[in-house]
Order: sequence, then C-alpha cells, then structure tokens
Amino acid sequence: MRIGRAAVVTDTGKRRLGNEDAYVFEPPLFAIADGMGGARAGEIAADLAASALEEASAQTRDATQLSAIIAEANRRVWERSRADPATAGMGTTVTIALVDAPAGTISFGHVGDSRAYRLRDGALEQVTTDHSLVAELVESGVLTPEEAERHPQRSAITKAVGTEPSVDADVFTRDTLPGDLFLLCSDGLSDMLSEEEIASAIEGADRDPEAAGDALVAAANARGGEDNITVVLFEIVDGDAAEPHPEQDRGIGATTVPPATGEPTDKDERAEASEPAAAATPGAAEPEPIRHGAGAGGRIAALALVVSVLAIGLLVLYLAVR
Ligand code: MG
Repeated sequence: MRIGRAAVVTDTGKRRLGNEDAYVFEPPLFAIADGMGGARAGEIAADLAASALEEASAQTRDATQLSAIIAEANRRVWERSRADPATAGMGTTVTIALVDAPAGTISFGHVGDSRAYRLRDGALEQVTTDHSLVAELVESGVLTPEEAERHPQRSAITKAVGTEPSVDADVFTRDTLPGDLFLLCSDGLSDMLSEEEIASAIEGADRDPEAAGDALVAAANARGGEDNITVVLFEIVDGDAAEPHPEQDRGIGATTVPPATGEPTDKDERAEASEPAAAATPGAAEPEPIRHGAGAGGRIAALALVVSVLAIGLLVLYLAVR
C-alpha cells in the first residue's frame, strides 16, 4: 500500500480579501491550518503552526509524535501572541493526516473545525470531530445537525492552537484500504457544501485529486465562497511503498476579490509559485499588513462578538449538562 496521487488547492474565496488558511504538503504528512484573529493575526497564526508542522514532518513517522508537534505549534503561536499585542488572542485550527503506508494506517492530529474526510466506495465519512460551539450544542441535543449547518455562529470554535499555553489535541489512528481517498479541508469548504455535494464533486472528477480539488473550490465559490477554501486530497493505492510519491502539488490562484492594497502575496500566490516543500515556509513571504474589508475595528468587533457568543454558548452548554 502506498500514497497515490495527491493535490492541494487553496483559494481566497469570494468574500475575504486575504487567505488565512495554510497547509503542509510533505507526504506522508499532510495538514491544514485555518487561522483566526484580528488584522493579519490569523494568517500569522496559521503560518506559524504550519511551519512548525512542516519542520517536524521529516522526523514525524507515527501517531505518538503528533501531540508533541501540535504542542510545539501551540507554543510558537502562543508565545508570539504574548510578545506582540497586535496578535493577542490569535489562534488556528490544525488538522494533520500522517500516513503509515506499510502498516496500512493513517493517524490524525486535530484541533478546531477544519476537517478530515474519508471517501470509500462512494461514501464520505467525516473522520474528525469538530471542536466547535455548534458541534457541542448538537452533541448535547440543543441543536439538530440541520440547525447547526445554518447556525450564524457555526464558525465559533471551542478549541484552537495558540490561544492558551497548552492545547489538548485529538490524536487517533484509523485503518486504511487501497482505493480510499482522504480529504482535509478548511471550513470554507465544509460550510458551503454538504457531504453529498463534496462526495459527488470528487466522484464527478473521477477521484483525481487535482481535478477534484479544483471542482470542490469551484463549487464552494459558486455557493458564495464566504471564507478561504483549502483542500488537500490524497489517495491510498495498492503497491510498493518504495514507489515514487505524489507528483501533483499545486494551488490555484483564482482570487476572485483582488487585494485592495496590493499586498505582495497571499497564500494563493504563494501556493502557485512555490515548491511543495516551501509551501508554508516561514519567511517565504512576510507580507505587509493586510487591510481587510472590515478594517481593524470591524475585525475586533467581530472577534468580540465571537467571544461573547462563545461565552453564552458555554453557559447554555453548562446549564444543559446540569
Ligand atoms: Mg475558515
């Protein structure tokens, strides 16, 4: 068993002016980070986490190491936010898939609401559990899954990398079979498309990771593209693990809303321009401050809203549990 074709596509979407998603494409390790925070802090958080994972990827070969590398990512984001008041409160999701082809297993490390899915025999199964307000409200019976999908605070996460001195990541291992296709994605995909739509976009692309990535991003944008969209896809195939690894790696630069201020680069451009190994390298691009559409005040207000909603949600949860 080995990793077959693989691809990554990242896109700013139709509403955001910058891309605060980052990814790691270092087979057998793949990861997604979706940053959050005011000004450009979300981008900083996602990049810090992705570069920590990327640096560790060469030495990371089994699940026992995933907690440690997420802890290191957490430490870097946390310490930066402590040192730089402009980034206070920033954080990021992290979802890692680490393939052990000879063993026929894939280990996952996960914090936040980015997702891993497995497509097997046409059926899409979410492998990770969201650390989100709505997921907890569904779990406790306050919301139905359908209500959660439409909930205005569906992006509020209850756990993030870098917002606390330490983080408790989900780490687990699953078996895999030849023919399985795995998808890691940020919520810019999973908020826009249902699982059925995700599965049919992949099948409609004949399960080719590159074509499927393009199709998924196009479908999310057609639905409104309200957030940055990042997808990593890889397939597990029969064969010798010593055979060559994925040939395909690229992002597309389909930024539909051009940056307002001509900042030197966003992740779309970086993905297009860089080698796979350099995709999330720190210093590959330290862009000038990004002026988001809402401005700093809007971002802070949005952050305050999220924090207050989170507090109310936790209170509701607490009362429900009691
Ligand atoms: Mg997002």
